[in-house]
Amino acid sequence: MSSISEAGVVAAVDKELFIGGKWVPATSGKTFPVLDPSTGEALCEVADASPADGVSALDAAVAAQADWANVAPRERGEILRRAYELLVKRADELALLMTLEMGKPLAESKGEITYAAEFFRWFAEEAVRIGGGYAVAPNGAGRFLVTKQPVGPCLLITPWNFPMAMGTRKIGPAVAAGCTMIIKPAAQTPLSMLALAAILAEAGLPEGVLNVLTTSDSGGVMEPLIRDGRARKLSFTGSTGVGRKLLEQCADKVLRTSMELGGNAPFLVFEDADLDAAVEGAMTAKMRNIGEACTAANRFYVQRGIVGEFSRRLTERMEALPMGRGTEEGVVVGPLIDEAAVEKVSGLVADATERGARVLTGGSTVDGPGNFYQATVLTDVPKDARLASEEIFGPVAPITPFDSEDEAIAAANDTEFGLVSYVYTSDLKRAFRVSERLEAGMIGLNQGLVSNPAAPFGGIKQSGLGREGGTVGIDEFLETKYIAVAL
Ligand code: NAP
Repeated sequence: MSSISEAGVVAAVDKELFIGGKWVPATSGKTFPVLDPSTGEALCEVADASPADGVSALDAAVAAQADWANVAPRERGEILRRAYELLVKRADELALLMTLEMGKPLAESKGEITYAAEFFRWFAEEAVRIGGGYAVAPNGAGRFLVTKQPVGPCLLITPWNFPMAMGTRKIGPAVAAGCTMIIKPAAQTPLSMLALAAILAEAGLPEGVLNVLTTSDSGGVMEPLIRDGRARKLSFTGSTGVGRKLLEQCADKVLRTSMELGGNAPFLVFEDADLDAAVEGAMTAKMRNIGEACTAANRFYVQRGIVGEFSRRLTERMEALPMGRGTEEGVVVGPLIDEAAVEKVSGLVADATERGARVLTGGSTVDGPGNFYQATVLTDVPKDARLASEEIFGPVAPITPFDSEDEAIAAANDTEFGLVSYVYTSDLKRAFRVSERLEAGMIGLNQGLVSNPAAPFGGIKQSGLGREGGTVGIDEFLETKYIAVAL
């Protein structure tokens, strides 16, 4: 670690666009700054792609598609495996880079690099397991052949909160399936993706298979590519609002879509739960990524008999969390991504307290520099508080008591979102009953973390369409072709 410097890791990144296997400046010559959210200062400038650069990237992805689809699955898998090894080897440098542009503490950034790398290892193994079928037709005369083929050139759009893992969760299966792609990282955190592109090139990914566009005009650059029709799929991770807009754009040329959208996770604690485990799980589900995760516990529903004790213990844990710049030793609460995020969290807390919620700890911004907000616990949060229906995306844990199982489930499901729900109970029958009734794509049962590259990640309702990871993740990048055979 000692040889790694902040300036060094930023300087090592290519800050141009990656198109057709080459680093090129934006045709306009423009750049935009990447800010450190813990200081508000610019770390560097990166190329600012225009719509014309977008078209060049699409041309490159389209030109590379046919040859790439013919590369042997084993070879595609081995490229991913090499990239996995490079990510693991350079985890310290990449973690520091991520902390600088995104703010999360170094230990969490390192955790994300490991998590991100695991998608490459997983899909390196899946590349050689793309199945097919052979069957006798019901009339006995014909035969059915079923095979899978790459969807074609893909557009990938990723958010700032997991700058590396949200990329590898899409790039891994796209590479394994034989698709070419254009990826557009969030303008706030482009450096991790640029570093990843260099690693994939070093691992042997052919020119044009992956193209990276950094831009301050995401809508202006991506909409023409979505509407062009040559890209056959959009895989998006981000907010539900933007997702809805992109789905409309995709309708024009009937693009395949995968949508990993917002969440509003309920965290249910029943009186029969192991309270130590529930508090531990609550800390993980709430504080991973400073609360800036789609899977973050957004609403805590705790059965009345234990709500006092649960709140006391959670408050004690939240109060003890060291806050500071993510690069400092031992820091757990880093800065939020920008000033708007701090304003949003402040507004939600103010709204809840005006409606009767009580602050057990925190509840304030922290004087600058940087976008800091205190780790906060609120209790007696009323149902009509805005944070019961909106993603907080910050270190705030709102607690509401409940009496019956039915009441808890109704409150948990009372949302347009359905990404993940957490349940803590020691009663096996209740565990299954509640898990089955909760409207969510994923359930954390006595567990505060569900993300795993080997599991199908995704939501129902307005949290999204499709799944990433697991054995189904690659299917999002494959078309099924059926060949009717007359014998
Ligand atoms: P966002 O504002 O929706 O942005 C996500 C991405 O979309 C960014 O790259 C953004 O680029 C781009 N974008 C914004 N407007 C666009 C447009 N009109 N056309 C094309 N691209 C556009 O979301 P965010 O604030 O970055 O991320 C937080 C959200 O992501 C939360 O709602 C969170 O729950 C969700 N999320 C979901 C998952 C999941 O797996 N379900 C995982 C992580 C995060 P610019 O920012 O550069 O404009």
